[in-house]
Amino acid sequence: MPAPLFDKIALIGIGLIGSSLARVIRREGLAGHIAISTRSAATLARAGELGLGDSYSTDPAIAVAGADLVVVSVPVGASGEVAEAIAPALKPGAIVTDVGSTKGSVIAQMQPRLPANVHFIPGHPLAGTEKSGPDSGFAELFENRWCVFTPLPGTDPAALEKLSEFWRRCGSNVDTMDPDHHDMVLAIVSHLPHIIAYNIVGTADDLQTVTKSEVIKYSASGFRDFTRLAASDPTMWRDVCLHNKDAILEMLARFSEDLASLQRAIRWGDGEKLFDLFTRTRAIRRSIIEAGQEVDAPDFGRQGLAHPEKGAASKA
Ligand code: NAP
Repeated sequence: MPAPLFDKIALIGIGLIGSSLARVIRREGLAGHIAISTRSAATLARAGELGLGDSYSTDPAIAVAGADLVVVSVPVGASGEVAEAIAPALKPGAIVTDVGSTKGSVIAQMQPRLPANVHFIPGHPLAGTEKSGPDSGFAELFENRWCVFTPLPGTDPAALEKLSEFWRRCGSNVDTMDPDHHDMVLAIVSHLPHIIAYNIVGTADDLQTVTKSEVIKYSASGFRDFTRLAASDPTMWRDVCLHNKDAILEMLARFSEDLASLQRAIRWGDGEKLFDLFTRTRAIRRSIIEAGQEVDAPDFGRQGLAHPEKGAASKA
């Protein structure tokens, strides 16, 4: 195995993203020492039971002492507090990064609190699931997914390259973007789909009890595909909505206009318009499969559920 990329990596926050990083760092031998910090004693103890790190503390300042790379993986609304707590203990020359789903707000919270002698490079791995906590992570999470950096003006190119190499060794492809552009792109590819899912599942939940049981029973006809997104972590998504407000409201306005136009087409029996839209959207899914960001298995690869024996055979 090649020499570790960093002597010591500190992971602040050890949920889905932090624990997936811990696992891939270990598998790839990317750190001489993995220091873990999380807010609660219960999560820290679980990380210890899972053997995710080499040292553990509920005090993030202890974890970052002497670390060459610090990765902050907490809900975006907690970024400022964490920056404040770690700032006095950071090693000069350390790289400090985050994984938050919004970038403008994380930069506004962290940059003023961090010392000038560290390299602060905001980042966002575009990889995840609806699960949370240290048990939900897995080393393959970042494989063939994008990690987007939103470097600040004056970022040291060598530090950016070292962080890029780290994420490449975690399996990701890397890209850079302006923070505002990142927040606009993510509003449409991630934030809006989650909000739509929360909304439709919420609407179903508000229906009368008898209808609700039918929603569950007949969910395989489409509804259940929204429920995966709507099962995502409430704290994380509350923070995303509050911290990417402008871009989300802009995308929601466009979405509402388009929905009204679709509603009109249905009302007036405009079959041509409906057919044209549904043809265009089908092509988008084809492009996603061609880009390697989805598999071409029908029904999201879930036949194993309806025909367990077939599912088992196809895995062999
Ligand atoms: P998670 O599984 O819920 O884990 C959150 C971690 O942050 C836990 O260690 C938790 O500590 C800690 N934490 C929670 N509230 C905190 C607070 N107020 N102050 C300090 N620490 C706090 O979350 P995750 O899915 O890994 O998400 C972490 C970050 O990654 C978020 O910023 C999210 O936007 C971003 N992200 C998530 C995904 C995804 O699909 N989940 C994808 C890309 C990026 P305790 O358990 O000890 O309280």
